Amino acid sequence: MVQQMEQMYEGKAKIVYKTDDPNLLIQHFKDSATAFDGKKKGEIKEKGVANAAIAATLFGVLEAAGIKTHFHEMLNDRDMLIDNLKMIQLEAVARNIAAGSLAKRLGYEEGVVLKKPVVEFYYKRDDLGDPIITCQHVQELGLVNEDEFKTIRDLSFKVNDVLGRFFNERGLDLIDMKLEFGWDKDGQLVLGDEISPDTCRFWDTATGEKLDKDRFRRDLGGVEEAYVEVLRRVTA
Ligand code: UDP
Repeated sequence: MVQQMEQMYEGKAKIVYKTDDPNLLIQHFKDSATAFDGKKKGEIKEKGVANAAIAATLFGVLEAAGIKTHFHEMLNDRDMLIDNLKMIQLEAVARNIAAGSLAKRLGYEEGVVLKKPVVEFYYKRDDLGDPIITCQHVQELGLVNEDEFKTIRDLSFKVNDVLGRFFNERGLDLIDMKLEFGWDKDGQLVLGDEISPDTCRFWDTATGEKLDKDRFRRDLGGVEEAYVEVLRRVTA
């Protein structure tokens, strides 16, 4: 049994702790939620528990499809044992249906089905507001080389494909999804962070109802219920 050691990092929704094994970390899921670069803050009751269970299940689905993730096991209902990855300062966003910043950027109505999935990259820099960047910017910044960039892009499409089908079978449309990757101790590319209603958009296939963090961002009500409903569908 690994021992939890000092806190390494505290983010908006999670705390990461070191352990007595340098290759392993503990990722603790909190109930706190932020939006609009931290300008909006709140608590979503039991969100941490729901997100931890959703993420654990989805990492399992991806592993079964041959995609390496940082997930080891749940230690309790909020603490996830994970690989200690050297994280790449990139957010990959896979999209299937126009929403959020893509709808704004391209002048699309929310809900327009994209001709084919799109993967975008954002530079993970809070002080810059996580700007969208291209493959050339990624290389200019020295984040990864061109081949690694292509591998990350292809892997993002694969994750989107596997999870898109998984959610479809559960009556949910996967609208878009943010992914983060890192390098493990053997230099392998591994999917990290979390996959949850905080980092994805899910709409009920039958009713179009939003079942994700947009309920919090846009004050739509029923926030806790949405997270619980996604958990129910994912673990059904
Ligand atoms: N997203 C995220 N973290 C971020 C930015 C976006 O998890 O820092 C997720 C967001 O929940 C959505 C997708 O990435 O599922 C695309 O977000 P978008 O670019 O549309 O930005 P938003 O409308 O959320 O500001």
